[in-house]
Amino acid sequence: MKIYFKEKLAEIADEYLVYETPVIHPMRQDTVILHNVLARFNPASNYRIMLLAHWDTREIADNDPIDSLQNTPILGANDGASGVAVLLTLAELLHEAPLNFGVDLLFVDGEDMGVPGISGSYGLGTKEVSALLPKPYPAFAICLDMVGDSEQMFFMEYYSVLNARDVVANVWNLARDLGYSQFIPKIGTAIEDDHHVLWKHTGIPAIDIIDFQYPNADTNYWHTTLDTPDKCSAKSLSAVGTVITELLYLENERRHND
Ligand SMILES: [Zn+2]
Repeated sequence: MKIYFKEKLAEIADEYLVYETPVIHPMRQDTVILHNVLARFNPASNYRIMLLAHWDTREIADNDPIDSLQNTPILGANDGASGVAVLLTLAELLHEAPLNFGVDLLFVDGEDMGVPGISGSYGLGTKEVSALLPKPYPAFAICLDMVGDSEQMFFMEYYSVLNARDVVANVWNLARDLGYSQFIPKIGTAIEDDHHVLWKHTGIPAIDIIDFQYPNADTNYWHTTLDTPDKCSAKSLSAVGTVITELLYLENERRHND
């Protein structure tokens, strides 16, 4: 992944940083090195927006319906890769059509090596990088996680509403205006995802765009070997990417006209 990110981002970002930090693996109790990647655009700007996604995938499919597969690593097409895919595409756009403010794309490691039920054992990469992020901090952050499900449904994640209500309203209103009815203006469950870890350790108002019903309320491929690209769709990735792109370029226009 280190090489892949470097190839994709080092040339097109205005600043490319890799943070390597050792942590104790919550499940295995040995030391592992996390690699958090920060691609910065317009780094001199004081006004910034951050977008983040975790790039690691869970090394055990502990929710797999087949017992013998529960020690198999998941592919993480949705849980991991989907958010990264949107951000990598966004990086190309930001390079081709630069904004008049700063954008930080943060690709975090170590989100998904936690012990189920143990709060604080997930989101380790975000926790580590929170202490190292350059200042000034972004005005707000948007985390993309599990955004590729072909049966997409986004409720307003509980902590996001609690800590960054205006950002949630902005995103969901924008999605409605663009005709994306999969953004449902109702409060959903609380998820301690990277957005929450970032907020806890930096105070940056942060929201999560996450579709935890993967694919629906009856079945869930989350943390199973079934989290594969055939369960995701380009249309879904495009919906999220379009909302984020609109948000950024509308802000650009607004700031230009000020
Ligand atoms: Zn996960």
